[in-house]
Amino acid sequence: MQADSAAPDGANLFVVDPWSHAQRQRAEAVEIIGCDVPVAGETLRLNLAATAGDVTLADIVPAARQLCDAITARTVERAVAEKYNIPCGRGCSACCRRYLVPVTACEAFALTGRILAAAPARSRRMQRRLLLAARRIMEHRPPKLSFDESGGCNEADLTATSRWYEQIDVSCPFLEGDCCSIYSARPVACRQHFIHGSAAGCMGHSDDAERLPMPVQMADVLGLVAAQLESAEVEAVPLPLMAAWCDVNAERGLRTWPAVLAAEILARTVRQTALEGTREMSGVR
Ligand code: SF4
Ligand code: SF4
Repeated sequence: MQADSAAPDGANLFVVDPWSHAQRQRAEAVEIIGCDVPVAGETLRLNLAATAGDVTLADIVPAARQLCDAITARTVERAVAEKYNIPCGRGCSACCRRYLVPVTACEAFALTGRILAAAPARSRRMQRRLLLAARRIMEHRPPKLSFDESGGCNEADLTATSRWYEQIDVSCPFLEGDCCSIYSARPVACRQHFIHGSAAGCMGHSDDAERLPMPVQMADVLGLVAAQLESAEVEAVPLPLMAAWCDVNAERGLRTWPAVLAAEILARTVRQTALEGTREMSGVR
């Protein structure tokens, strides 16, 4: 698990390591919910801890990032052990220039909150970049996305959106030079975007790049969790439009649910999604 994904102190929902004395102490008087995930024939044992407090949609994100990073790290580790070439690394950013990143309602609120809480000059810079990207997107009207019952996006819609986005030529507003300026808080879709093959494929210079399948797509999970908590449909927001979306949906960002309920739904959704994802992983060769 990456150190930068730790849940903040005082969080009511977090991933707990049963072997860590400090975490065991912190986890006293909370409910621990098992969230095992099969990865390449092994079981990754993960535990969610929830206090008696409440959480907003944004409060679910740190724990989701922890789960996401643990699952992703183990998946990449296993792929490398099986001799897949994974060229992804710091400073490689063609994907940040080519793909429109979808964020869930949970992440839209969490990321927008982070931008507003940043130092004033940095906050203004990020807001300006988001605004410029959002303006360009709205000038060119994105295709509408639809979702199936498992929270996944319709494939034809995704292809149409990718083509449209390449044509309008908008880099991610958080890309500075060749690095992600919100790396520790980047969306789960970015955290899980790895390819196997050649980085040249990501730039369109070869067809030798295939996406590394993950046993759990955390973006789907977060979308489903928000939909269940809010009794609403699964939705995704294009990252450059998230600040405007949060303005319009501000009241949803203030709603709270018991942390234990959120943890149960999160753990159950991860397990259910893992069953489907494991079948996809077994097809990678
Ligand atoms: S997905 Fe492609 S462009 Fe992005 S980091 Fe990996 S190799 Fe580089
Ligand atoms: S949020 Fe960061 S990692 Fe994701 S597309 Fe933007 S710059 Fe790249």
